[in-house]
Amino acid sequence: MSREWRIKVLLIIITAAVTTAAGVQLFRHRHYRMPIVLGPGVTRTARLSDYSPGLRGGMADTHVFFLEGREPGGKLLMMANTHSNEPASLLAALIFLENAVVERGTLIVIPQFNNSGGRNTRPGDGYPLYFTIPTSWGGKRFRMGNRDASPLDQWPDPDVYIHYPDKQLLSYLDIRNTNRTWPGRPGGALMERVTYAAMELMRREKVDIAVDIHGAETMFPVTNCIVAPEKSIRIATMTSLTLKAREGFDNHVEPSPTGFRGLSHREIGDFSDTLPFLLEAPIPFLDQPTGPKTERLLLDGKDPFLLRLSKKNKLFVPYDESGWPMARRVGQHCSAVLELMKQFGRRFSDRTFKVTGVPRYAEVVKNGVGFYYQDPARIEPKKIVYN
Ligand SMILES: [Zn+2]
Repeated sequence: MSREWRIKVLLIIITAAVTTAAGVQLFRHRHYRMPIVLGPGVTRTARLSDYSPGLRGGMADTHVFFLEGREPGGKLLMMANTHSNEPASLLAALIFLENAVVERGTLIVIPQFNNSGGRNTRPGDGYPLYFTIPTSWGGKRFRMGNRDASPLDQWPDPDVYIHYPDKQLLSYLDIRNTNRTWPGRPGGALMERVTYAAMELMRREKVDIAVDIHGAETMFPVTNCIVAPEKSIRIATMTSLTLKAREGFDNHVEPSPTGFRGLSHREIGDFSDTLPFLLEAPIPFLDQPTGPKTERLLLDGKDPFLLRLSKKNKLFVPYDESGWPMARRVGQHCSAVLELMKQFGRRFSDRTFKVTGVPRYAEVVKNGVGFYYQDPARIEPKKIVYN
């Protein structure tokens, strides 16, 4: 073998080894099964494909959990992991699933709304593949996902994404973003089928309130807020004012723009009787000018570059050496959902809620997020769903 060929063969072997090592990690990430513990409030489980059969059998299908009270009342749908790289939403949804006891009304929880996005990652940004929440019984490990669905599940992307039904031209990437594909359609791109299924769920189950839970950069003006269209804005405003007065954290109201299509807080309201709300809590991990995208930054939100920018008034939220710990973000989401139910019940007295067992902001900050998760090893198997 000539010297040139020996070098070629060596390079092929090195490339194959690196590709295989990385591929195995990504394969394991995509197929990692996270235990979801079903608490005392869960009365039945369904799949999103029950509302749109075009999802059945694929990676975009996901679990829907019902927590139905004995007394009829309001109906609230909670959607987490619309963007799977904003995991405070998932952590808050799991607190509700494991702890909520519903006496009046119904909670419907979809903890992993963009199920395919939860199995995607961003190697170019060096995302961690997992993160762990400490608990008294050890660590609870979660898959860290991405904003968009995996190209393994929906591909190829168009040059330009034409929104249905508005025909607005959006970025090609947004066709895999479940917060740009509302209200969706049954035979459209996979993510359009996901949002269509959720619309069908809201219409068939007669959902009163839909809460889509997110996280946003500290340098982005739409952060630490409740986004609401005209029909929801009164309840959002009362919720925001009450949270500020009683619990001391800011959650200002942002009006949903009318001319920007595909977003949950716009299309759900326009295409159903449901009142939509979108919650944003700050997530420093997603800001561009930070240090490495580590698991630690994801969990404590502490970053020296953001601290310097904060001193120059470049951030849209208060920021100091304490960062933005996960417990604050998750606690805000828990309180905001509970308060939305209360304020809705004040406006519509025939559709109230009585939900106990879910901690509010101060309790989550004091006890930590992991305090509210049980050890799956000590739970009877029929009370656990793996995803
Ligand atoms: Zn988001």
